[in-house]
Amino acid sequence: MASLYIVSTPIGNLEDITLRALETLKKVDLVLCEDTRVTKRLFARHSISTRTLSYHAHSKLSRTGEIIQMLKEGKNIALVSDAGTPCISDPGAELVRHVRELLAMELAAGTIRIESIPGPSALTAALSIAGVPCADFTFLGFLPHKKGRQTLFKEIAESERTVVFYESPHRIMKTLESLEDDGKKQVTICRELTKIFEEVASGTAREVKIYFQSHPDKVRGEFVVIVSEF
Ligand code: SAM
Repeated sequence: MASLYIVSTPIGNLEDITLRALETLKKVDLVLCEDTRVTKRLFARHSISTRTLSYHAHSKLSRTGEIIQMLKEGKNIALVSDAGTPCISDPGAELVRHVRELLAMELAAGTIRIESIPGPSALTAALSIAGVPCADFTFLGFLPHKKGRQTLFKEIAESERTVVFYESPHRIMKTLESLEDDGKKQVTICRELTKIFEEVASGTAREVKIYFQSHPDKVRGEFVVIVSEF
C-alpha cells in the first residue's frame, strides 16, 4: 500500500505542527515542497531529514506522471506548501485531482490512499480570533488583480455572509480603499498570525485604512481580510 499525505505545516510559528504531521514527514520516502528552502527550515527545527523535491505552480504537470509512478511503486509521499494547508490558495489541488482520476482503481481497491494530515491554515486561524459571525462564510482566496475585481468588491459589499480573503502587503491599502464603506460592514485585518507582530485591527474600511496610513510600519507581512456585518 502507498499513500499520498497532504500535510499542513505552520503559518509562522514553527512549533505549530501536529505530532502526526511530524511522524508522517519523518517516515515518508519523499516530501513534495512548494519551496524546498522553506521546508528545510521546518525540517531543521524538527530534525527531519527526508528527501525533498520541489512541486510548485510551474512544475505541476511535468511532475504529476513521476509522482503517480512512485505511488504505483509503493512509495509514500507527502505534499506540503510553504505555509498552512496545501491546496488552500497553494499548489496541490491539481495533483490531488490527477491522482484521484488516474489512480481511481487503486484508490477504490485501497492499495493507494490519499490522506489528510490537517493542521494550521491562515483562514481558520483568522476566523478563530476575529470574533465575527462565522457559522457560514465565503472564502475568496486571493482577489484577482484586474478582471472581475470590481465586481467582487460589489459582491462583498452586498453579501449577507462573512467574506474572507487573503491579501498581500503591496495591495492591502488599495484593497481597503476599494472596500465600500457605508458603515454597515466591519473590516477585520488579521496580520502576521502566530508570529511576533501578530495583530488584529478592525473597524469600518475607512477606519482601518486610516489606522494603517498612520502606522506605515504595519503595512508589511501577511494579511487575512474579513468583511462581516456589524
Ligand atoms: N495555504 C495557506 C493557508 O492554509 O493558509 C495559504 C497560502 S497563501 C499562498 C498565502 C497567504 O495566506 C498570505 O498572502 C496571507 O494572505 C495568508 N497568510 C499566510 N500566513 C499568514 C499569517 N501568518 N498571517 C496572516 N495571513 C497569512
